[in-house]
Amino acid sequence: MLHHLAYASAAPEPVCPARLADLLDVSVRNNTRDGISGVLLYHDQSFFQVLEGERQAVEQCYMRILGDSRHSGVLRLWSQRVEERVFSHWAMGYAGPDQLPQVQSSAQDRLIRLLRLREAGPANEPVALALTRQMYKRFRFGMMRYSGPILT
Ligand code: FAD
Repeated sequence: MLHHLAYASAAPEPVCPARLADLLDVSVRNNTRDGISGVLLYHDQSFFQVLEGERQAVEQCYMRILGDSRHSGVLRLWSQRVEERVFSHWAMGYAGPDQLPQVQSSAQDRLIRLLRLREAGPANEPVALALTRQMYKRFRFGMMRYSGPILT
């Protein structure tokens, strides 16, 4: 049974390309082994990631990610059963602001601002979820049109 999990989190400081590359290397290695595909977005010290695969594998991966000190405030945005993979060809696709269409960056900016206000209370979470879904849809649409390099 295929499962889809998405979360957002914050890096304590800007993540340099070399550290992002280290993180992606390990992710691609592990995710290939575990039958997980997905995508990681990084922008302005914020991460947004979608993981998809067998539920147990996805949850185990998420537990490792939860304990990683390279980010904090991990917020599970959605977790649900799905019929098919969206990112089947990526063990972990990566997109930073340079790779994302402008419309995507602005949706992500709004989400990031909202997540920073999260301390204001859980009332914000449905809004965060709605924004994330919107961002995700736009991201998928943008990826169909985008022809530049995406690191995997
Ligand atoms: P190892 O191969 O033993 O170690 C992993 C390597 O990661 C180490 O060699 C080290 O270079 C580095 N590392 C680990 N922890 C830290 C740390 N706290 N600070 C600096 N470097 C460190 N893992 C996945 O398997 N799949 C994913 O999709 C995935 N996505 C991630 C997304 C984000 C935003 C973050 C922050 C982490 C992600 N990780 C992912 C990494 C995950 O948190 C674990 O570090 C990793 O799964 C551990 O793999 P391993 O047990 O094979 O460890």
